[in-house]
Amino acid sequence: MSTQALPARAEVDLGAIRGNVSALAERAGSAEVMAVVKADAYGHGLVPSALAAVRGGATWLGVAQLPEALELRRALRGAGVEVPVLSWLHVPGQDFGPAVSEGVDLGVASTWALDEVLAAAAATGSTARIHVKVDTGLGRNGAWDADLEALLAGVAKAQAEGAVEVVGLFSHFAYADAPQHPTVRGQQERFDGIIAQFERAGVRPQVRHLANSAATLTNPSAHYDLVRPGVSVYGLSPVPDLGAPEDFGLREAMRLVANLSLVKDAPAGQGISYGHTYTTSTDTRLGLVPMGYADGIPRHASNAGPVQVAGQRYSVAGRVCMDQFVLDLGAQSPAAAGDEAVLFGVGAEGEPTAQDWAVAADTINYEVVTRLGARVPRVYV
Ligand code: PLP
Repeated sequence: MSTQALPARAEVDLGAIRGNVSALAERAGSAEVMAVVKADAYGHGLVPSALAAVRGGATWLGVAQLPEALELRRALRGAGVEVPVLSWLHVPGQDFGPAVSEGVDLGVASTWALDEVLAAAAATGSTARIHVKVDTGLGRNGAWDADLEALLAGVAKAQAEGAVEVVGLFSHFAYADAPQHPTVRGQQERFDGIIAQFERAGVRPQVRHLANSAATLTNPSAHYDLVRPGVSVYGLSPVPDLGAPEDFGLREAMRLVANLSLVKDAPAGQGISYGHTYTTSTDTRLGLVPMGYADGIPRHASNAGPVQVAGQRYSVAGRVCMDQFVLDLGAQSPAAAGDEAVLFGVGAEGEPTAQDWAVAADTINYEVVTRLGARVPRVYV
């Protein structure tokens, strides 16, 4: 695709994704890597990113929703790639049939999910591949207490009948980004206890998994048999206060670039954009960036988000609008319409980063890349 005519584009460096996964695999040691590619691979594009992750050494792929898993499973098959795909967030009444017959691994967090998966297995004449999801203290998805006992009893029975293969047992941290937080150790201890409880019931999952990116990078004792990194696959630091991507051998995979659609002179004292929340302090030149909150640029980053033009860094001037925002380029700027504006890219190369935008918008780098709109083409480089 020619990128010249596009007002804005997200360049996705598949080599960076490959390299990041291979760095994560090295950190994981003997544990395998499940690259988490939910939410369109955190905005990077599901199938190309998943294939790059597999080439980098991921032997499993993880998503949240069934439709994502089915799309991925079929695309992988088309590409001749066979790796297990796990999806873990379901609602009652979903049809598990296609997933069971296509061999998608299903996260099971409650007895209703087990019942519906078993019904789909019976209807399709297949054995369902399940990973039991337990809540060890995140207080989110996953079974605990009496629900867990009932679920374990059902799983043991279904396993004995050959209706399910218990592929995995997994949980998720609340504070992996604060490795010293006492809940981290507490959740691991609870996970170990649940593994023992499963063994006593005769259920021995092939893989036990707990670690997201932060735990993969900072907590080897949480690696178990498999790690489940997401944001780090795309080269973003899950612990920006502890280290930049390059400190962990990672490289940002996405570069968000737009071409200025207008450059014009403005006098001192000119209010800029809706509500005039910015006023020029001198005679200056304005550059118009054709991206806005419809594209996922956070309106919260008004008067704050960093943008680089010709090696110089500027902040958004005034409010981010639906399709556009303004830069105050200064009176001496040689910029012209069509020039490239880099919103974020590779920090180690001096570009603003998704993390800088996260700070500007009071959010996390995950949200900055994941919320990029469908109108922004992903261009693979
Ligand atoms: N595992 C589960 C269950 C998740 O929900 C997520 C993402 O939120 C991940 C792993 C990957 O987390 P991260 O992107 O922090 O590595």
